[in-house]
Amino acid sequence: MNFNKFLYIDSHCHIEDKSFNKNRDEVIKRAFDGKVGIVTSGASLGGCKRALELKNQYSIYATLGYHPGRVNAEEKAINEVYEFIRSNEKEILAVGEIGLDFNSGNIEKQEIIFKKFLELSKELNKPSVIHARGLEEKCFNISKNDSILMYHCYGGSLELAKKLIDNGNYISISTIICFSNYHQKLVKNLNLENIVVETDSPYLSPIKGEKNEPNNVVKVIEKIFELKKDEYSLDEITKIIYDNTKRLYRIQG
Ligand SMILES: [Zn+2]
Repeated sequence: MNFNKFLYIDSHCHIEDKSFNKNRDEVIKRAFDGKVGIVTSGASLGGCKRALELKNQYSIYATLGYHPGRVNAEEKAINEVYEFIRSNEKEILAVGEIGLDFNSGNIEKQEIIFKKFLELSKELNKPSVIHARGLEEKCFNISKNDSILMYHCYGGSLELAKKLIDNGNYISISTIICFSNYHQKLVKNLNLENIVVETDSPYLSPIKGEKNEPNNVVKVIEKIFELKKDEYSLDEITKIIYDNTKRLYRIQG
């Protein structure tokens, strides 16, 4: 994919999600027409396989990982995902999403799985896309020395956000910012250095009752502009975030 034709990149979404089966063509076309590039993230064996197929079919980018919510799967299933990622390393920008989720139970087992996939990012020399819901500090303590981290859908503290960025990692701001004061305040207090944006589609829609889609990543940029307009023009913010994303994922061109 020639990224030069884009102005924006949705740095994390799930376009392989089955809920897009009915209108995936349309959703991807709408993104491309809106100059939005797509990085889709497989998070299960089936999801990883579909993400790679779509990457080739639509010329989008992919990251592959294993969602912490799948903590109770059998060892064999987890290993299959691990081997699938390893054997497709040339096809992917990063390993993830991987991480911990406070709401999925069995944190000890989640931690073992997380470490296994972190080792893989390290071995493959790729960034890690981190899901850290409610356990942002813990994820950082486990992963800080392993690879460049991109905290997807960041909702942790301002202090940790600054620490992550100071250590060369990335914070991804999702469409949640369109309606969450907490996230708006967070961004207001951060420099744009190492901030990227995402929709996490089909989740986290900024519009009540609608399914989220990559094109909505423009709404995240517009909201950031609203918060930062004393310092930057809309074009400057768009360009800084686009360049941050390319640097994070080492996208050439
Ligand atoms: Zn996700």
